[in-house]
Amino acid sequence: MVLNSDEKQRYFRQLILAQFGEEAQLRLKKAKVFIVGAGGLGGPVSFYLAAAGVGHIIICDRDVVELSNLNRQILHGTSDINCSKADSAKNTLTELNPGITIETHKVTIDDKNISDYATGVDIIIDCLDNVPTRLMINKFAVNANIPIMHAGIDSWTAQLTLIKPGLTPCLQCLFNTYEEAEGPKPVIGAMAGVTGTVQALETLKYLSGVGETLENKLAYFDSLNMEWAKIPIFKNEDCMVCK
Ligand SMILES: [Zn+2]
Repeated sequence: MVLNSDEKQRYFRQLILAQFGEEAQLRLKKAKVFIVGAGGLGGPVSFYLAAAGVGHIIICDRDVVELSNLNRQILHGTSDINCSKADSAKNTLTELNPGITIETHKVTIDDKNISDYATGVDIIIDCLDNVPTRLMINKFAVNANIPIMHAGIDSWTAQLTLIKPGLTPCLQCLFNTYEEAEGPKPVIGAMAGVTGTVQALETLKYLSGVGETLENKLAYFDSLNMEWAKIPIFKNEDCMVCK
């Protein structure tokens, strides 16, 4: 596999990065990723992965675009209201980069259909907004030995980590005692933008083999005080999923 002349132009500014180059770009071109959720996090994640040239992007979302999504969900515009998020995502991302494969599905992921979409991918990107679905995906990924790039937002704070089955804690280890509040979750769009963009960057680093990843570390962002922390995390020895 080589880069064609369009790709050399499109990705020129990242190809000239000292730590990147053609080898890293080819790794992105060969990569297949599964983004779960086309909402606040899935928007910037899919946008920057498509822009960077990740070769095959799979997105699942059954929802339609609502007016209240538009404070943060940058894949969709006002004219997309009441249209499928999967279709809107495909249109936006194809317009951005027609040279990659963007596969969208109007489905809600559950424990019965996840293997249809996630089998054989290089990484699952957790752009969800609820813990039960995260734990379902975690169980599949640990059994199938697929890494998860996790991010989550709680109002003005966010967390990110890279799950590598067998080598790091899993999401069940992290969310063992988590209690979720009911109802719509408060969020300002730029917070989803910052978090999703870092999630995209960490995914690109992992796929291209450039830099340090967030294995066994939780990046924690407190936006009200503009503070980032990197906290060591450990397996729960009693974890029922990754023990
Ligand atoms: Zn675990």
